Amino acid sequence: MALDLSDQVALVTGAGRGIGAAIAGRLSEAGASLVLAARTEAEIEAVAQEIRHAGRNALAVPCDVSDEASVTSLFEQIRSRHESLEILVNNAGVGVFGAVQDFDVGDFDRVMGVNARGCFLCCREGSRMMLAHDSGTIINISSVVGFKGYPLQAAYTASKHAIMGLTRSLAAEVQGAGIRVSAVLPGGVDTDLVRSARPDLDPSELMHPDDVADAVMYLLSLSDRAAVDEIYIRRRSGTAH
Ligand code: NAP
Repeated sequence: MALDLSDQVALVTGAGRGIGAAIAGRLSEAGASLVLAARTEAEIEAVAQEIRHAGRNALAVPCDVSDEASVTSLFEQIRSRHESLEILVNNAGVGVFGAVQDFDVGDFDRVMGVNARGCFLCCREGSRMMLAHDSGTIINISSVVGFKGYPLQAAYTASKHAIMGLTRSLAAEVQGAGIRVSAVLPGGVDTDLVRSARPDLDPSELMHPDDVADAVMYLLSLSDRAAVDEIYIRRRSGTAH
């Protein structure tokens, strides 16, 4: 039976392109009302317009997830429009790559700021809204580097390990209140991020953003009796372990 999210409100961060735009599209096809957040207004507005042209609901809210005031304002706008938030997908992310010895501390702070702090801020605000109704699903987009270490990716890897710790602790805190918190850990997906980070990878061997969206939809399709904590999804031509 097709998943029906028609009575649900979903926030997707980093929804202007790549994986976030694919997830937003799939959630809206299942009937959810979307809130799309990222810094580039033109990109989230374009995704929102596509959703609205298909006759569904979407609101684009410019937001820098690493900035507390910006995240607070995002959630104020959600509250002013919607009584509740059922789905939060923390997908916004950046990567800066290079050897630790040459790595600029400002770049380290930026990667941690968007990926770890941004995920924390949205988890905090989102779980507050969900606890008011004792239900909801939070899905954090981590990475295969959330459990592995790749060379030249220390800051990005540290930020994705941080997301795993945050996900596991928050899941334990709120599961008694009926809120599920999971992580999706993708390998290489054909997006702007991976094209600049890994020009060595053949795009035809990468996954498509829809493959990650499939994993998100699977998590949302689970019955109330079940929870899947983590999904590791890798490209078939990549390493198996
Ligand atoms: P992408 O195409 O570069 O998209 C990243 C999205 O995040 C954009 O919408 C971007 O919009 C947004 N974003 C970046 N910084 C932000 C900030 N400070 N505040 C709010 N939004 C921000 O990258 P992607 O590959 O789709 O990545 C999406 C997520 O998947 C990331 O968390 C990434 O780490 C993860 N991931 C990707 C891969 C892969 O192979 N592509 C693999 C594993 C995990 P603005 O720049 O306009 O803000």
